[in-house]
Amino acid sequence: MSLKVYVSGRLVDQEDAKVSVYDHGFLYGDGIFEGMRCYNGRVFRLKEHLDRLWDSAQTLWMKIPMTKEEMSAAIYETLKANNFVDAYIRLVVTRGRGTLGLDAHLCSDPQVIIITNALSLYTEEFYEKGLKIVTASTIRMPADSMNPRVKSLNYLNNIMAKIEAYQAGCEEALMLNHKGEVAECTGDNIFILRKGKLLTPPTDACILEGVTRNAVIDVAHKLEIPFEEKAITRHDVYCAEECFMTGSAAELIPVVEVDGRVIGSGKLGPVTRRILNAFRELVRNE
Ligand code: PMP
Repeated sequence: MSLKVYVSGRLVDQEDAKVSVYDHGFLYGDGIFEGMRCYNGRVFRLKEHLDRLWDSAQTLWMKIPMTKEEMSAAIYETLKANNFVDAYIRLVVTRGRGTLGLDAHLCSDPQVIIITNALSLYTEEFYEKGLKIVTASTIRMPADSMNPRVKSLNYLNNIMAKIEAYQAGCEEALMLNHKGEVAECTGDNIFILRKGKLLTPPTDACILEGVTRNAVIDVAHKLEIPFEEKAITRHDVYCAEECFMTGSAAELIPVVEVDGRVIGSGKLGPVTRRILNAFRELVRNE
């Protein structure tokens, strides 16, 4: 059966879900998006995702053609049309149709697209065994070029790093910022446990401020695990007791090797396990 996709007010079969080739989302990556998860019929931290979407629009001088309430209703309507209670949700807003020039002010008819999908998760084996990653030579976009806190449709910076991961036979790559500090992975935030303290780069380290990242910080506080947002280097990562990545799709995935250095025990560590279990409880109960 064909999935239904929401395209600017209409639910259509996925084969008919289309945007104009003149849409600047297509021509220039001029648009924004969110990736969310629905657990047991409820979208996890929907408010936080919509706030981030609206913040991205504000910086890009875009106007989202509906309210947050209307957007929430459209998301739940799309989930219902596809009978999903557990799903991955991709929300896209484009700048809309324009000329072949760059002018944003000549664009009209911004498109709102909501795609819901069955979850294609990392297998449970990944959560036990963890990932091996490498540092990409492509650095994260500096904030004064294009702030990575904007979740824009232009992901070429991340894609270049992901290609490096693929070429190295890895699933993910670690990205540094222009100061040489650890920023994040290509589609996930990063945490380390170092000398018993949980650390993650601050929001000004050229990262996307992940909704999962912030939920994990809440969980760490609840579990009374010492935590600090702090600039970290690759040395800190190599010498960490534990390391994991966070993102809406993956939740928490242990990282067991970085650039050939085994991290800690080389498998899922006890603190990561505690946080993952508490996070999974949170997403079902919040
Ligand atoms: N960093 C980047 C670059 C991302 O694209 C994402 C989302 N895929 C994340 C971090 C994690 O964000 P969230 O927890 O909100 O999914």
